[in-house]
Order: sequence, then C-alpha cells, then structure tokens
Amino acid sequence: MAEKKRVLIIGGGFGGLFTALELSGSAEVTLVSDDDHFLFTPMLYELFSGEVESWQVAPYFKELLGDDIQFIKGCVSSIDFNKREAIIPGRNDALTYDALVIAVGGISNYWGIEGAHEYAIPFRKAEHAAALRQRMVEALDAVPPNAAPQVVRRAITFMVTGAGASGVELSTKMADLLRDAFKRRALKGEPRVMIVEMGDRVVPGMGHEIREFVEKALNESRVEVHTSTVVKRVTPGSVILEHDGVLEEVPVAGVVWNAGVRVNPLIDTLDLEKDKRGLVLVEPTLQTKHYPEVFVLGDAAFYPDASPRLAGTAQLALQQGDLAADNIKALLGGRKLKTKHFQELGEAVSLGTSKAAVLVGEKAFGGPLARDARFAMYTARLPTWHHRLKVGASWFFGGTAPRPLQPLGL
Ligand SMILES: Cc1cc2nc3c(=O)[nH]c(=O)nc-3n(C[C@H](O)[C@H](O)[C@H](O)COP(=O)(O)OP(=O)(O)OC[C@H]3O[C@@H](n4cnc5c(N)ncnc54)[C@H](O)[C@@H]3O)c2cc1C
Repeated sequence: MAEKKRVLIIGGGFGGLFTALELSGSAEVTLVSDDDHFLFTPMLYELFSGEVESWQVAPYFKELLGDDIQFIKGCVSSIDFNKREAIIPGRNDALTYDALVIAVGGISNYWGIEGAHEYAIPFRKAEHAAALRQRMVEALDAVPPNAAPQVVRRAITFMVTGAGASGVELSTKMADLLRDAFKRRALKGEPRVMIVEMGDRVVPGMGHEIREFVEKALNESRVEVHTSTVVKRVTPGSVILEHDGVLEEVPVAGVVWNAGVRVNPLIDTLDLEKDKRGLVLVEPTLQTKHYPEVFVLGDAAFYPDASPRLAGTAQLALQQGDLAADNIKALLGGRKLKTKHFQELGEAVSLGTSKAAVLVGEKAFGGPLARDARFAMYTARLPTWHHRLKVGASWFFGGTAPRPLQPLGL
C-alpha cells in the first residue's frame, strides 16, 4: 500500500480546523495550534455573557478531531520552505510535510497607541472574555453599599474602542449585563458603557438595512456612542480621548481593545510575496507564488477575488478551508487544482442579551426572533455533525439565558 502523504496545518481556527476535517482520512494530517481548543469567534460575546458555555463554542480539539488527525499543541516559530520543515521551540524534532497549510489568523492591532497594549483588554480569545467578565465583577464588588449614583457611575464606566460589528456586539452585551447587575445588587444610578469610534458612524462596513437596528439597540442599551473620536493614550485607570482637537481624560474601570487586527507575527518572518498590510498574496488556488505545496488562507492571506466585505471573516476562512482541502487532495493525487467563488453567507449581529439583527440577501430583521435565527444559523456552522447535534440540542432544551455577573471560571 502507498504511504500516505503528510499534510501539516498550522493554526486551528476556522481555516485550519475546517481544512483538517475535510482532509481527514485522505492524508496523514497533523494540526498544530497554540491553543488546545477551537474558538467559534462569532459567539465570543455570548461566551462572555454566559449565554453559551465554553464546551459549546470553544470545544477541545481532542473532542473534534478523530483518530485520523494528529493534534500538537504548540506555537510554530519558523518555517523553512526549502527543507519543508516547521519548528516549534522546545520540541526536539522539526515537523515535516509534503503539503503545508498556514492559517494562523491575525492578532490585535494597537496602532502604537501608548498604554493600549499594556492596559486595554483585547477581545479575541476565550481567556479575554473571562478577563473582561472578571474585571466587571471586581468593579461591581468594589462599589460601596449606598454609594451615590454619580459615584457608582464613575466606578462602573467601561469603554470599548471601535464601533464595528464587534464593538457594537460587545458594548450592548456589557451594558445589558451591568444593568442587570445593578438591579440584582440594588445599586443606585446607571452603569456607563462608552463606545469610541474614529469614523463618523457606527458599523461602517455594514449596509443601512442593518444599521437602523444597530443604532436602535445601542440607544435602548444606553450605550454612549462617541464617533469622530480618537484614543490618544490608555493609562491603568483612564483613557485620553481627542474629539475636535480637544483632549479629555475619562476615568474607566476597564477598556476593551477592538480597534483593529494586524498580521500574525509568524507571517512577518516568512519570505513570501505579501501586500502592503503584510498579508500573503495567494493564487486563486490558495497556493503561494513560489511554493506550490504551501497554502495560506483566512486572515493571513490576501485573496484578490473575494469581495471586500468577506475579507477578514470566518465566512471566508471556512469556505477557503474546503477549497484548500480539495486542492491538497488534487496536488497530492497529481490532478489539476481549481478555484472557487466565495459567497457572502449573510450578516448577523447580536444586540445585547435578548436580541440580534440578521441580514439575509437584501432583507434585514431584528429583535428576539433574529436572536433565535442567529443561534440557528451559527449551530449549522459549528465544526462536525456530532458537535452541532450536541450543541443544538443543549441550546434547544437547556436554553441560552445570560448568566448574572459572577466569575465564569473559564
Ligand atoms: C471576537 C470576534 C468576533 C468575530 N465575529 C465574526 C463574525 O461574526 N463573522 C465572521 O465572519 N467573522 C468574525 N470574526 C472574524 C473571524 O474570527 C476570523 O476572520 C477568522 O477566525 C479567521 O480564521 P483564520 O483561520 O484565518 O484564523 P483564526 O480563526 O484566528 O485561527 C488562527 C489560529 O491559529 C493559532 N495560531 C496563531 N499563531 C500560531 C502559531 N505560530 N503556531 C500555532 N498556532 C498559531 C491561533 O491560536 C488560532 O487558533 C470575529 C473575530 C473575532 C476576534
């Protein structure tokens, strides 16, 4: 029997995991990732609010990957394309391959803003959701009983940077959770949740159909929206903002960094053709220009034919996973590789803990029904049939109510 070819996949996010699952059984597949679990990022907000549990949206690779896929937890620090080797520091042997998939995603971009990296909480991983929740619980616990409303408001001021979909989803969840905590703890006054946006409007990348729902929800959740405002500096207890040339220092209990993504540092080290932002330029087959056995996808790649609205999305990465798997099978089997038109699968944003807005085709709808539709839509996109069934059943029978602001113990 012919020996199976070795496929090495670096990164266990949407691109890497879906490629691995598609390739299972057809090659000797190894998936390397620096986390031991996948993360369904569109529901990180619900993980934060306790509407879903970590086993549902951050399942361990051990539970997702069958016996046909080897999983290695580790952070790849370098790749030698000529030797066909990848290195994980601390591991004796290099990982070798016949075909390589690089799907390492991006990291938070702090744009060099003083104090942002040190003092702001990023929001990209399960542990970030837990850290933010913890910070909110600590801030609430520190409020003295019977404190005056203005004292409470100052102590419970949180800021989210960036009013893209992510900033809106997070700020409305934070505001709803805090208001619920105020009622439960009989605190006077109101929490303050601010969202700060450099541009002149919220969700700039989304159409007007969905913006109406977003603006209404921000208003109902009493999120303070500051557009045309720039973060100049972050300190341990405040943020310095600039609006219309005027600087203002706002004391905060926490600031969440949602204002940008940059290319993964591993990609910086690779001698591949890249665009201005450092993303790897790939062929329509997802192959790199000089190494036909090396494929790059998801947030690490620039794929010229994808619509700009799809760039940097899970929707694109998971569709590319399918194409990469097909093309690797073709490459290893000596067949012709193909390309594919990637589709926009619709937009969905959660708006607080009880509603959402969904856009399918040209039609947008909002409210609690849209929240249910969003859950259903995302159930269908979770990895593996087995996991989808387990999660779908648990949401259907167990419900998806948020958990009051107590540490989640993630
Ligand atoms: C909070 C949040 C919400 C989002 N919501 C949506 C949404 O609603 N809809 C949508 O379409 N998109 C959404 N996105 C964007 C989406 O998550 C990304 O576009 C998608 O995850 C990109 O997939 P990827 O495979 O390229 O990278 P990722 O999914 O980021 O996966 C990369 C993986 O590689 C691992 N890794 C990184 N470096 C190394 C290394 N050197 N060695 C080993 N492993 C490494 C990482 O830990 C990670 O597991 C959201 C993103 C975030 C952060």
